Amino acid sequence: MSKTLVDDKSESVSSHIIVIHNAVIVTMNPQLEVFRHGGLAVEGDIIKAIGQSDHVLSQFSHLPSAQFIDLHGHFLLPGLINTHVHTSQQLGRGIADDVDLVTWLHHRIWPYESNMTPHDSYISTLLCGIELIHSGVTCFAEAGGQHVPEMARAVELLGLRACLTESIMDTGEGLPASWAIRTTDDCIQSQKELYKKYNNTADERIKIWFGIRQIMNSTDRLLLETRDAAKELKTGIHMHVAEIDYENHVVRDTRKVDYGTVTYLEKIKVLQSNLLAAHTVWVNEKEIQMLSEAGTKVSHCPASAMRMLGFAPIKEMLDAKVCVSLGTDGAPSNNRMSIVDEMYLASLINKGREVYSKGTTDPTALPAETVLQMATINGAKSVLWDREIGSLEVGKKADMIVVNPFSWTMVPFHDCISSLVYSMRSENVISVMCNGRWIMKDQKILNVNEEEIISMARSASTELLKRAGNQIPSKMNFV
Ligand SMILES: [Zn+2]
Repeated sequence: MSKTLVDDKSESVSSHIIVIHNAVIVTMNPQLEVFRHGGLAVEGDIIKAIGQSDHVLSQFSHLPSAQFIDLHGHFLLPGLINTHVHTSQQLGRGIADDVDLVTWLHHRIWPYESNMTPHDSYISTLLCGIELIHSGVTCFAEAGGQHVPEMARAVELLGLRACLTESIMDTGEGLPASWAIRTTDDCIQSQKELYKKYNNTADERIKIWFGIRQIMNSTDRLLLETRDAAKELKTGIHMHVAEIDYENHVVRDTRKVDYGTVTYLEKIKVLQSNLLAAHTVWVNEKEIQMLSEAGTKVSHCPASAMRMLGFAPIKEMLDAKVCVSLGTDGAPSNNRMSIVDEMYLASLINKGREVYSKGTTDPTALPAETVLQMATINGAKSVLWDREIGSLEVGKKADMIVVNPFSWTMVPFHDCISSLVYSMRSENVISVMCNGRWIMKDQKILNVNEEEIISMARSASTELLKRAGNQIPSKMNFV
């Protein structure tokens, strides 16, 4: 990969101007404009100008203190947004491959999560963050994890943007004994305190959201009080919704509705525009309409869905104008935390899924521009941050990535949006800027020592699995 970014002097000065020129700029603005020879200027954390390269250069060339960066035809696009990721689960990568869902949850994940120390959470988030940055992510939504203060500490250090959420359950069968069931009051109070302490911290890169792990681990009181508290604090709610058919059966039996979780959430008015519903695989036509009318956002996690959940009706949701974005889910249910891979998978899986409705695959389903919107502007809408991020436009925050297309993975390229979805690998992402600061340059993570984190993660994971008593049978015929 060639070097592009050469000078990093004066980055600590907040009003410093960076002028990027000679780039193919994929704006993801409402007109989906692409500048073939584009330029973009950043002042502090804000995009000040965007347009033809020569024009932008001439606007700032009289400023001797500005830093000029020639991208030599590399692609510049908005930072990708991962709307469902379990940072706490990064140390559990590979602990639950090829097992059924009950084994996955009861015997592998819950023992692991219930034995996490705050330090484990910190290391896990750092390791996850490194992988997110390498795959071009500048913002993510935590799905609900352990020890939010340590997550926040890691996010602040990495330089990422995030909506952090605590894993919240106030009822449920099969939970580990060491994980005492929390009271509803404790769940709500704890999240309100996290909000007070961490919301809008780290240069306003951190938001605190409310979490609901899933309906089978929630009382009605928790659902309703979460709805009201999030409304009062004007923040979002992140919840796993309709993941498996069994969940809908339980909801039908216990909550007396005619279909499933979405129907019930609509009935009790939790289905609102600040709800980010993860997975949302098992929904019928009527429920898709409910999601659309409520303005509820859906995080589609294609790899995780294929592994354990099933085909989500994403094309139908998009046709009904539901805002669908992309997530990786956690390391034990996907193993790869790359939103670049998820873009590729989302397009392929949803083309293949058309066999069910049309009797044949449909190569026109989820075209590249739709998938790139899911990973950028729809991601921003899903995390309630689209006024500031999700596209490259004047006045928005400077969250962007540089992609080098001149490698064997992408050459030749004819349509840059198609090329970004179908050919790009994480390895093509060479530099990442979040909030006006480079957090990766020429594939070097800048704010933490990557090698050191990898080494710490290896030993923390070993110790954690020992404490959790996790037995991972090896499939290898070692000799
Ligand atoms: Zn999840």
